[in-house]
Amino acid sequence: MASLSPIIVWFRRDLRLADNPALFEAAQSGRPVVPVYLWEDDAPRPLGSAARWWLHHSLKALSRQLAALGVPLLLRQGRAIEELPRLAAEIGADTVLWNRRTAPREAALDTAVTRALVALGLRVESFNAGLLFEPGAVRTRSGQPFQVFTPFWRACLALPEPARPLPAPAALTGMTGLSGDAVDEWRLLPATPDWAKGIGAVWTPGEDAARARLCDFIEEGLTRYTLRRDHPDQDGTSRLSGHLAFGEIGPRQVWHAARRAGAEPADGFLRELGWREFSHHTLAFSPDFAEQPQRREFRDFPWTEDAGQWAAFIAGRTGYPIVDAGMRALWDTGWMHNRVRMIAASFLVKDLLIPWQRGEEWFWDTLIDADSAANAAGWQWVAGCGLDSAPYFRIFNPVVQGEKFDPRGRYVRRWLPELAGLSDQFIHRPWEASPEQLRAAGVSLGRSYPHPIIDHGSARRRALQAYSALRGTGAA
Ligand SMILES: Cc1cc2nc3c(=O)[nH]c(=O)nc-3n(C[C@H](O)[C@H](O)[C@H](O)COP(=O)(O)OP(=O)(O)OC[C@H]3O[C@@H](n4cnc5c(N)ncnc54)[C@H](O)[C@@H]3O)c2cc1C
Repeated sequence: MASLSPIIVWFRRDLRLADNPALFEAAQSGRPVVPVYLWEDDAPRPLGSAARWWLHHSLKALSRQLAALGVPLLLRQGRAIEELPRLAAEIGADTVLWNRRTAPREAALDTAVTRALVALGLRVESFNAGLLFEPGAVRTRSGQPFQVFTPFWRACLALPEPARPLPAPAALTGMTGLSGDAVDEWRLLPATPDWAKGIGAVWTPGEDAARARLCDFIEEGLTRYTLRRDHPDQDGTSRLSGHLAFGEIGPRQVWHAARRAGAEPADGFLRELGWREFSHHTLAFSPDFAEQPQRREFRDFPWTEDAGQWAAFIAGRTGYPIVDAGMRALWDTGWMHNRVRMIAASFLVKDLLIPWQRGEEWFWDTLIDADSAANAAGWQWVAGCGLDSAPYFRIFNPVVQGEKFDPRGRYVRRWLPELAGLSDQFIHRPWEASPEQLRAAGVSLGRSYPHPIIDHGSARRRALQAYSALRGTGAA
């Protein structure tokens, strides 16, 4: 007789029912399913504050969905290597299923958990749910991981298309009577002060919201994506990053939804999903990607640490409106437009010469889509120390970037209301307005809005010198 012992499905960053191969496999077996999410005491990198807010709501959404199928989501805290064997013994499970994590430290943890479970006689099976292509499946002709995006993506596109998404299980059999934590006990939400009001006003975590956002974007945004994606003053990108980071929607679902809309509009958008893929494949082969420059020469880069400038940067008070608008949007909503992430990051590492790792950590703490791979890739790209990076001499001019990508100053006015009265001509360079123009706009430089904390022209020359000195040692 086939075994009727329950199957444990260990949820991690795959907080969805559809296209969830581990859950699908468990449902197919017809056996009781115990879905569990663990608050891992030994997680290699503790979640940042904004991501904890998201996780709280995402777990609530997943619990509701599973409850609708008659199955409770079990929440437990501890080390997976102890908690999973304990749970398996408690319920008499003989199988544990999960979707793979590919970041090296998480993957090492999973290998250790697998060994522990197998040693106890349990069956463990894992699946790919988080990526279009698995790290290792995309390699150069000589069998190495790609270091440059364009050939990487070309190689991805030459592979068989990612599998069609699996449906959500129509029915599940659960087990009741198991004791677990309530998500509120984990205190993932801020208490006093509640700084997450702005985040809650903008985002709805959970699979249903993710699916709705994808549908809206495919219908309303995809055809104009390439035209609008660089403009923070427009609603031109999918804003799926938080949902993707928590696995409330999977990349295969996004891929096939975009493809159904036709090759032409989908290509440019899927290429961005390709950057997500590239960053995850890169991290899979470089455990210290989030902390160490890929170009090792950059370890000797003459970074500076100025506490005052750092404080101005994170508070959105550098005196450069596009940078400040982005940093305030980040603080308020937990998200920043990609173009502005690049401008703000360039300002930190090139104008202020503050180490990119400081910026990476700040983003990690404040982004709702914080993702070790994409975040490190973004920062290393901007700093010029990634293997496929912006060249060191590309130093964004925050005024020119602002005028190009936010030409009417709509984005700046939204986040810096104190500058709203300035004309389009000065909105990105308030210090050039005459005293009368400033007065008429209600702007008092140095009081209501700061003077630039650094002169971009001199900062640029200083950065170029520092980078050229490094070049002498073989960098860039
Ligand atoms: C300094 C810096 C830090 C970043 N940190 C993160 C991060 O922690 N988490 C994160 O998800 N993205 C990060 N990005 C990449 C990018 O800014 C966001 O993915 C994007 O802004 C999310 O908005 P969207 O969902 O509307 O993207 P869309 O333009 O609609 O793209 C669709 C999806 O593709 C992926 N994607 C798009 N651009 C990139 C990219 N350049 N690199 C990797 N994936 C991409 C995202 O999953 C995104 O949701 C960072 C970029 C920079 C420059």
